Amino acid sequence: MPSPTPIITLALSKGRIFDDALPLLTAAGIEVIDDPEKTRKLILATHHPGVRVLLVRASDVPTYVEQGGADLGVAGLDVLIEHAAELGGGSGGLYLPVDLKIARCRISVATRADFDYAAAVKQGSRIRVASKYTHIARQHFADKGVHVDLIKLYGSMELAPLTGLADAIVDLVSTGSTLKANHLVEVERIMDISSRLVVNPAALKLKREPMRQLIDAFARAAA
Ligand code: ATP
Ligand code: MG
Repeated sequence: MPSPTPIITLALSKGRIFDDALPLLTAAGIEVIDDPEKTRKLILATHHPGVRVLLVRASDVPTYVEQGGADLGVAGLDVLIEHAAELGGGSGGLYLPVDLKIARCRISVATRADFDYAAAVKQGSRIRVASKYTHIARQHFADKGVHVDLIKLYGSMELAPLTGLADAIVDLVSTGSTLKANHLVEVERIMDISSRLVVNPAALKLKREPMRQLIDAFARAAA
């Protein structure tokens, strides 16, 4: 008797990544049955008999895939870099075969318009920076030879310079309208961000054929 097709579990986060991944999923022959914004289910069936979707927090995607809770997933490069740095710089054994080119944005430094950033980042100076991306921020200022006092925040970063909590923030920017609405200016671009396909290498070995097909379908759709 032929063994049944192994079920492949794909970890996605609700919101931007799910929405932007939808056309890629469709192109890969995966149609999710429930609307993640309407259901309370966290495991979603698809019309593809061999694929199910796990809804996890954006920053939890690498952990699920690394630990084998999901076979593959979609995560922003921002999340992947911070996650790897938390593990001490290793990739955590994750395989990143495809740049899906979705959820594109950048990580930038922003300050109040009246803050003299150029003077603040002269070699040997000191700056207070608030961010959710403390590893990326630390590395950026270390590369510039600037001493940095980092303040870890989990959201509403724009408030930090406005309240005097920090001189600058390191945060994701796409259109810049959130910065503008809060009278902040983007003073330096650190890196461009997009979402990547994240694969568990052991799952790739164990479910080689269906995993390969799925990865190839995503790669074709993203090209
Ligand atoms: P949570 O809401 O669970 O705290 P999150 O805020 O990181 O997590 P999202 O806002 O859905 O979740 O962001 C998910 C990913 O989408 C980010 O890691 C980033 O790669 C990308 N992203 C975030 N904001 C933007 C944006 N404004 N434009 C384009 N891509 C973005
Ligand atoms: Mg968000």
